[in-house]
Parts: sequence; structure tokens; C-alpha cells
Amino acid sequence: MHEEPHEPQPELHPSPAPEAGGDVAASEAVVAIDESADHSAHAQPMDANIEAEPARKPRVIALLNQKGGVGKTTSTVNLGAAFARYGQRVLLVDLDPQSNLSLHFGVESGPEQRTIRDLLLDPTCRIEDAVQTARPGLDFIPAVTELALVEGELAQQEGMQTVLRSKLEPVYGNYDVVLLDCPPSLGVLSVNALTVADEVFVPMQAHYLPLRGLEKLLQTVHLISQGLNPTIRVTGILLCMHDGSSSHARAVIGEIESQLAQFRGMDVPWSTATVLDPPVRRNIKLAEAPSFGQTIFDYAPHCPGADDYRRIAEQLLAGWGLPHTTFDGAGHGSDGGDAAPSPKRKRKSAKRVKREVSAAVKKSGKSKKVNPTSKGKKSPKIAKATKTTKSSNVAKSSKLAKISKVTKSSKLAKSSSAAKSSKLSTTKKSAAAQMTIRTKKSTTNHSSRPTKSPKAPKPARSKQMRVAKQTKSIRRPLRSGGLSL
Ligand code: ADP
Ligand code: MG
Repeated sequence: MHEEPHEPQPELHPSPAPEAGGDVAASEAVVAIDESADHSAHAQPMDANIEAEPARKPRVIALLNQKGGVGKTTSTVNLGAAFARYGQRVLLVDLDPQSNLSLHFGVESGPEQRTIRDLLLDPTCRIEDAVQTARPGLDFIPAVTELALVEGELAQQEGMQTVLRSKLEPVYGNYDVVLLDCPPSLGVLSVNALTVADEVFVPMQAHYLPLRGLEKLLQTVHLISQGLNPTIRVTGILLCMHDGSSSHARAVIGEIESQLAQFRGMDVPWSTATVLDPPVRRNIKLAEAPSFGQTIFDYAPHCPGADDYRRIAEQLLAGWGLPHTTFDGAGHGSDGGDAAPSPKRKRKSAKRVKREVSAAVKKSGKSKKVNPTSKGKKSPKIAKATKTTKSSNVAKSSKLAKISKVTKSSKLAKSSSAAKSSKLSTTKKSAAAQMTIRTKKSTTNHSSRPTKSPKAPKPARSKQMRVAKQTKSIRRPLRSGGLSL
């Protein structure tokens, strides 16, 4: 998985400029590359480093996806915990201002705790000051919400993209694996992660839209590989919240695999990328575990989520030539069922959830009080929207009025002619006949203003048709398939 540079490669087209949002930030950060930055440590293949110095450099892996809610933090925590239970020394770095990673360990940092913010902005802050130990062999650096402001402050610093690398390097000897939990954007924090990382894992769902997002992400990594970090590799696509019974998900996985296969042996950072096995199944235990401040191996060691993360860690360690036979925990050899929580833990959970729900209710009650819109005052935007809706409603109703006028007159004309011809206009039979004529006339009269004809019922789409449509939609290849990267 972690491969060396390749033989002479086909020439690539220049990378297109990223389009919008976080990508712009990333491209600016990348364009402003400090040419004098020392890349020597990373420009060498890892084996060469091992030969040169006895202390092995850890594998530094960024879990990156510009989209939120895809499983980056869950995967960082639980993969990290699995590596630690296989005997690896692991460091997790929370680079997301939402600081969710820290919550997984039930640690609430006090004001005196040094965080990733201090590490990035304060030249006197050493990494040892910010590191906390969650479990034996599992350390982490917490984040804070103010990290959101760091992007702006960092942007003013010289060599802003390499700050994290320079801070991590002194403790490389203490760890075997370092996992970087990236924020859901491609700004300067993610660029810092990509500058220090050897590898990138992309947590994502096997759906069509995330597949399109993958292309953008690869472009960003490609930009980084052209300057700040020439040896960075995207090595793993980590499928999260996976629904194995969905034919769409299976089709998307097939598409990812065939797209990646096109790049084998080429000089692009994702030439060795594979879909990590197994996909992590959707499993509610993974969502519950952080509310107990626990990793999945502490919370529900026999559940499918624990089994999936353990198996991925096992496969990766085997591929890296690291120990992977002794797993410290009941997750090993999982039978796929959930662990039954002890009555004590159940009580604790119920209390905790109750406390959190009442806190949330109180909070929302407070915010309602201070929110002017909730007292009937409308913000300009809302007022405008309402106005637009109203005026469009007026337009709609006047249109409807016209339509009904046309219908009415044709109705009158018809009914009078019908009355003349048969004098039976009051019978049910003739009324039904008039209805038929009116409907026919309104649908066939193209010269007059179109009237609303009754909607024909939609034909029911068969399951086969739906699958065919989905499969067709993902047939549109990644742009990178055409080597536009
Ligand atoms: P990100 O870090 O990319 O924003 P998270 O890891 O925080 O995403 O996951 C988003 C939400 O989905 C969280 O509530 C998490 O608990 C939940 N989640 C993640 N993976 C799974 C899974 N395999 N099954 C069920 N829920 C999951
Ligand atoms: Mg996260």
C-alpha cells in the first residue's frame, strides 16, 4: 500500500484551478508555497529513511474529506484504537474546530490544557504540552472551537503550511502511527495535514455525490504533491456507514475501483489507492459510543462496527509488515452481535442522555427568547421571501382565474348548445357527456391559452427501472478518468 515512486510516467496535463469554497483556500495556500521549505525529509522514500536512521518514522495518515459527517472522526478514533490494541503506539491529532475527536475520549479540556491551536500559533508551545493520553498506547492532541479562527491567523504566518510538520517531527520516535483528523474543508489546516502526511485515507459513503467530491479532493492532493509534499499518496478509500444491501452502493464501489484501476502505474498520488476492506457497516453503536466517551472497543466490542474497524486495522498492519496477531480486547473474533450493556452502564447511559436532552431543551428555550424572529418579527430575508411567495401566489391565482374564466365560458357555451340540442341538460347523463366534451376541448385546443388538464396518473416505476437509472448516472466517469488532472 505504501509504495515507492514509480518508473518514468506518462506526462500529465496541468491541474485545473480548483473551483470554489474551501478549494480556493487550498489552492491559495498551495500556490503560496514557501520554495525555501526543506522537503528533504519527505522527498526520500520511506525505506531510505529507515536505512539512514534507526528510529523508524511513524506512518502519518491524514483522514481527509471536504464533506462533513462522512465518518472521518469516527474512523480516526476507532482505527487508532484498533492499532493501539494491536500494540502500536498511536497519536491522533484533532484538526477540526468542532473538536469531536476529544469527545470520543470523554475528555473535556480545561482552559489550562494546551491544544492544537496553541501548537500551531504559539512558537513556544511544544507538542508534549498538548498531548494527552486516552488509553495505553493511544495519545491525542485535542482541538478547540477557536481553531476556526486559526485559519486566518495562520495565513499571516510565514511557512504556514509546514507548521504542523515542524511540531510533529520531534516526537516521531514516540509513535508508530499518527492519524490526522482533518476538518471538513480544504483550507490551511487540511493543507498542514497534507504537508506532513505520508498517506491519505478518504472516508466516504458509497453514494454518487461523494464520488464526484472525490475528484476535487484528488486534485487538491495532486497540487500538494507538486510542491509541499512530493511523496504524499492517497492509499485508501474508507467506506463508512455502508449498506451492503444497496445495489447503488455496490455500483458506486465498482465505479471507484474501475476508476482507480485506470491509474495503476501512473505518476499520480492515487496510483496505489484501493478501497479498504471491509467497508464499515452502518452501525448505531458507533454513533452511541462517543456519548459514553468511549471507543467502539470499550463500548460494544462485539458489534459489527468494532469488527469492521478491527479488521481494517489488521489488514493494514499486515500490509505494512507490522505486528497484527494479538489484539488486546474482546473485539477479536467478533460474532457480529452487539455487546449487551451491563445494567449499571444502561442506567448511566439513560441518566446521561436525560441530562443532555434537558440541557439541549433548556438551551433551545433560551435561544427562542432572544430570537426576534420567533416573536413574529421577520428578518428582511424572510420578509422578502414571504413577499415573493405572496406575489407569486397572486400571479398564480390570477392565472388560475383566467384559466377558470376560459373553462367557464367554454362550459357555458357547451352547456347552452347541449341544452339546445337535447333539452336534457339537467339529467345526470348529459352532465357527464358535457364533462367529457369540456375535457376533450381543453386538451385539444392549442390556439387558446392552455388550460390545466387533469394530471394523468404517473406510471409506477419498477425497481428494475430505478436501478437502471442509478447505474446509468454513475456511468458518467470521474473527470480524472480522462486525465484532466
Ligand atoms: P466527520 O468527522 O466526517 O464529520 P463523523 O465521524 O463525526 O463524521 O460521523 C458523523 C456522524 O455519523 C456521527 O454522529 C457518527 O457517530 C456517525 N457515524 C459514523 N460512522 C457511522 C457508522 N458506521 N454507523 C453509524 N453511524 C456512524
Ligand atoms: Mg469530524
